Amino acid sequence: MQLKVEIDPGSGFCYGVIRAVEKAELRLKREKQLFSLGAIVHNNSELDRLRKIGLEVIDLERMRNLKDTTVLIRAHGEPPEIYRIARQRNIELIDCTCPVVLKLQEKIRTTYRQYCTGEGKGQIVIFGKTGHAEVNGLIGQVNSDAVIVDTTVPEKGEKADFTGLDELDFTRPIYLFSQTTKDPDEYGRIGNIIQERIRLHGSNPENLVIHNTICRQVAQRHENLTEFAKKHSILLFVSGKESSNGKVLYELCKSVNRRSYHIQTTAQIRPEWFHEEDLVGICGATSTPKWQLEGVAAYLETLSRQPINFQ
Ligand code: SF4
Repeated sequence: MQLKVEIDPGSGFCYGVIRAVEKAELRLKREKQLFSLGAIVHNNSELDRLRKIGLEVIDLERMRNLKDTTVLIRAHGEPPEIYRIARQRNIELIDCTCPVVLKLQEKIRTTYRQYCTGEGKGQIVIFGKTGHAEVNGLIGQVNSDAVIVDTTVPEKGEKADFTGLDELDFTRPIYLFSQTTKDPDEYGRIGNIIQERIRLHGSNPENLVIHNTICRQVAQRHENLTEFAKKHSILLFVSGKESSNGKVLYELCKSVNRRSYHIQTTAQIRPEWFHEEDLVGICGATSTPKWQLEGVAAYLETLSRQPINFQ
């Protein structure tokens, strides 16, 4: 029984994650242990690999109790408070904040300073996941004086709605930004909804300024994955459960190819998913390492050689 297996050439770590992992590995060649504030990547298999060479994931409470050591800041970035704590505790930071995120933080700070203080002040609005590390880093640039809007999880057959919109004053200027890994289509949709509410309030449509801040690598991946999902009879989407980019991209795959399965490890693969002569596509999130995709492909090749009753 043969399965043809292809790995999406566009999948694998994004630039920001590659850079953070490389910096961690480089430091761990010289030192036995390195702390990372939060998971350097939302992928347990990769975290296990890095743990074995000395990377220890810590939370903020643990960092507050450390002194005279080194802590890595992951690609998502952090709010200014973390840099203050590091200075107070004599902690050296290996700052792996992705340059794209750094630029976004800077843009939010500047916009806030210019347009969001004083009379008739504007509002900073971030389309992102509440509590996500990148979003915490973004709102931290403006002392949390920002509104977070996000999509709700839709009931079966319903369209996703948005949370946070009721906190907005549609008569005042709105400066809209997106977390870098959000769905570009959903970002477009929220822009339209805000525009519509501004119109209903009889306010000036120019009160809404939309900043295009979705990472280009993510946006490109949406386009490529749509094509990849169409070309394959079945898709295995590999990513950690915590990966917000993984959730968005998996939903995209599922909307194009209903035989899409989200897995974290090969142990979750079920032989009954496959049909004879299936063309299997393997793809993943920006936090899924290439070696894991290759591992899934190797597993499927072994599986297809075994005398299993495929449907
Ligand atoms: S998704 Fe884009 S912005 Fe986010 S870490 Fe990767 S390269 Fe940087």
